[in-house]
Amino acid sequence: MTNPSDYLTHLPTEQLLICKSHKYALRPKGVFRHLQRYHKTTPLTTRRALVEYAGTLTLRDESTVITPVDIIPAFECLEMIPGHRCIICNFLSSTIEGIEKHSQTVHEWDNTRGTLLFFSKKMNELIEIESCWTAQTIQTFFLGIHKKYFAVTRNTQQPNDSTIETLVARMLDAAAIQDEADDAAQMERDIVMNDQGAAENSPWLTMTGWKEMFAGKNMAVLVGFINKDVRRSDDYALKRLHASVHRLINYCMQGVRDLDWREWKAIRYWMRSHKGQQPSSKPFRRNYKELSSYADVWLQLILLCWRVVDSSESLELESGEAGVRGPEFLPEQKTQLMALRSLFLENPSDADLDKAVLIFSVSLIEHRDYQKERSIIKYFCGIYL
Ligand SMILES: [Zn+2]
Ligand SMILES: [Zn+2]
Repeated sequence: MTNPSDYLTHLPTEQLLICKSHKYALRPKGVFRHLQRYHKTTPLTTRRALVEYAGTLTLRDESTVITPVDIIPAFECLEMIPGHRCIICNFLSSTIEGIEKHSQTVHEWDNTRGTLLFFSKKMNELIEIESCWTAQTIQTFFLGIHKKYFAVTRNTQQPNDSTIETLVARMLDAAAIQDEADDAAQMERDIVMNDQGAAENSPWLTMTGWKEMFAGKNMAVLVGFINKDVRRSDDYALKRLHASVHRLINYCMQGVRDLDWREWKAIRYWMRSHKGQQPSSKPFRRNYKELSSYADVWLQLILLCWRVVDSSESLELESGEAGVRGPEFLPEQKTQLMALRSLFLENPSDADLDKAVLIFSVSLIEHRDYQKERSIIKYFCGIYL
């Protein structure tokens, strides 16, 4: 007895028959030929049964097939193709050459000029982009000259944008829901293995390099390191750190407001920009309703660094072999961190404490990701998000 579903997948809504091993649709009249040509090892009786089964179904061919126009969840039975989507007109291409040619001929994109102005509806502002396409998983029902791509989302797909701006935006968004997530049991994730399933191999994790960064680390321990609930803690130093970070953030925001008073408003446009040569089209905000929740995020970053030093047996301060790295401090950051800790040998004044936290904070911000030691902020985002 032949079970057709061992060889073929029927999509009743789309009225298509997909070959399970080749992952594309068969033309209703082409089933016999496909099996004869590509499935020679399948017994003849089985092939005949499959052709007979196909004959009982109502199927569309390449001229009547309905290609989805929206981005839909991927068909598991079809090939997933890492392609590109034009963000202006949603044109799809499987090759970089194809999308470049489209951008040049249709949108007058000039890759020598480097950038293109584009109005982002989501951000409600003009943004400058280097290319007018984005990575997009695509699929097609039929192959060959009948290839017609449509865009799909993988079930586990995450945003694949890892600019610092996006990381920070995600971090701030997450701050709002952090309280609920603080429950350690809920936050507990197992040790990150290099060979975990599809969800762990999402483009997001792959692109940021977090998987490699956290390989061999127990995420539950790391998540514990960023627990910001220090008010109940009997650790004197942690309580002082909490107060200090909040004072500092308030102090910095006063500096932002001071810019207007001095008529240096232009600086706020530069503050918001993540580019060296160009201000943002919007200014850095002066007022944040939930400033303390933003301050708490920074506190968590500082706490992570602080606690890492405490538990050197579970996370090495020094950068280890590739793939088993803890946070990688720059030499000056180690010095600053030690200086901060040594303040607590005696009872430090608020001013001394704030100064040490500020110097260390600035160093974390200025830590460029292309240095041998990778950005601590990025490492923190990997635990936080
Ligand atoms: Zn096949
Ligand atoms: Zn286009």
